[in-house]
Amino acid sequence: MALNLVLFGPPAAGKGTQAKRIVAERGLVQLSTGDMLRAAVKSESELGRKVQDIMKAGDLVSDEIVIALIEEQLDAQSDATGFIFDGFPRTVAQAEALDSVLKKRGESVDSVIRLKVEDDAILGRIAKRFEEQGRKDDNPETFKHRLDTYNKQTAPLLPYYSAQGKLTEVDGMADIETVAASISEVLDRQASPKGEPKQGFFARLFGSK
Ligand code: AMP
Repeated sequence: MALNLVLFGPPAAGKGTQAKRIVAERGLVQLSTGDMLRAAVKSESELGRKVQDIMKAGDLVSDEIVIALIEEQLDAQSDATGFIFDGFPRTVAQAEALDSVLKKRGESVDSVIRLKVEDDAILGRIAKRFEEQGRKDDNPETFKHRLDTYNKQTAPLLPYYSAQGKLTEVDGMADIETVAASISEVLDRQASPKGEPKQGFFARLFGSK
């Protein structure tokens, strides 16, 4: 059975790290719009040139661009057993587009896992990542803007998924192993025959987690 998982959280919450672990453990395919856009910038493609300044400023690129990237990948990897959406969707319009794209394929978003982290801790993490990786948009000023963008444009997605009974929160402040174990537990519960009705039918009826 296909599993489509949205990993949700602010920048530097650990989504990429956890997505890679799930890929290794469960064979799902990671779709990171941030990685796709960075690759486009690096290759100096037309798309890359279009988005580089927006990314550098820590703003969101247009919904059309990221939705097209996701659709392209879903088509290219149509035999995958499921996807982990990492850094997508980031707006309600993107979430609605994802729903409709998956519906066309007879699928849906099955689970949304939110990595809950505190702003102060993220700022500490990002300073370290900036030192290690030198990503321009990780510099303290731009990062604050990205966090702001998350709070304004992306956090409103939480009620969207919560209303559908798909949202589970995981403590993202714990160490990598503990967070991975918590995510695994959620996914195991949802994959089990007993877990399925709770996450699907009853959760939608009663809005429980
Ligand atoms: P990330 O690596 O996910 O933090 O993304 C890095 C940057 O890429 C973001 O700050 C945005 O400029 C852009 N980006 C990535 N994913 C999206 C998305 N789903 N919607 C809009 N912009 C995005």
